[in-house]
Amino acid sequence: MIRIGQGIDIHPFDDSRPLILAGVRISDRGGLGGHSDADAVLHALTDALLGAAGAGDIGQYFPSSDARWKNAESSRFVAEARRVVEEMSAEISNIDITILAEKPKLAPFREAMQAKIATMLDLPAGHVNVKATTTDHLGFIGRGEGICAMVVVLIEIGGESERSPVEGVL
Ligand code: MG
Repeated sequence: MIRIGQGIDIHPFDDSRPLILAGVRISDRGGLGGHSDADAVLHALTDALLGAAGAGDIGQYFPSSDARWKNAESSRFVAEARRVVEEMSAEISNIDITILAEKPKLAPFREAMQAKIATMLDLPAGHVNVKATTTDHLGFIGRGEGICAMVVVLIEIGGESERSPVEGVL
């Protein structure tokens, strides 16, 4: 059986913080505001994994009211969502990520972000895709007020999964 999960997260810019997306340090300033390290990509990924598992959302597991998660590395949230997925004997088939940002240009970091997430989830290369786009100056993203990340995940439950729909293509 296959199941799909979707996650969306938005954070406002906080210039005083480093920008960390998908676990990759993009810059020392021009980061995002939030309780944890504000990694919108990993937050959306966590929600997508929990969604695929039918296991609620990131706020139930890691409430921002909990001081333990202040400035926390968001890879911890992904690790917990991975544990939930694996507990139901499911495997992650593929992950597709879209980052909406007017700034900075993220194309140079695309492969590093893919590799970081693949390592985080112990997935073969080619199972994680990261795309970045702007909104052509429209809306709050276009005005450079924040960044939005959207993630779709497919998981496969039970059986000997082939796990590599993409490898045959690459
Ligand atoms: Mg968030």
